[in-house]
Amino acid sequence: MEKLLIIGCKRAMDDVCIGCSRCLVGLNRREGSFSRYAGQEVELMGLLNCGDCPGAAIVPRLAQVNLWNKPMGEQVTKVHIAPCIVDHCPYSETLIKKIKAKAGVEVIEGAHPYIPENIFAP
Ligand code: SF4
Repeated sequence: MEKLLIIGCKRAMDDVCIGCSRCLVGLNRREGSFSRYAGQEVELMGLLNCGDCPGAAIVPRLAQVNLWNKPMGEQVTKVHIAPCIVDHCPYSETLIKKIKAKAGVEVIEGAHPYIPENIFAP
C-alpha cells in the first residue's frame, strides 16, 4: 500500500489554506494528482510544512519524518508537493530540487486540483 507524505508551504498550511482540507478532500476523492490512486487503498502519513522561508530546513525535516516513524515500521513511499509550493512559492525550484534529490522515493509535483480561477466572476 502506498504511504503518502504531502509537503506544503509553512505560511499557507492551515492558514491561507484552512485545515489543509483541499489536499485531504482531493486525496479522499482521488482527484488532482491523487487520481493516480483511483481504486487503491492509500494511507496519509503526514502533512509536512517546508520549515519556513527559504525552505532551507526541508532535508532535515524529511529525515525527521523518517526517524519519527521508523520505530513503528512505517515508511513513506510517495511524496506529494502541494500547490502552495508548486504554484506559489518563490523558492519552489530550489525546494523541489532538494526534495527530489533526497527523498529516495517518487516525488509528485501536485496534490489537490481545486485552485480558484475566477473568484468574483458571476
Ligand atoms: S519557502 Fe516557500 S513554501 Fe516555504 S514558507 Fe516560504 S514561501 Fe512557503
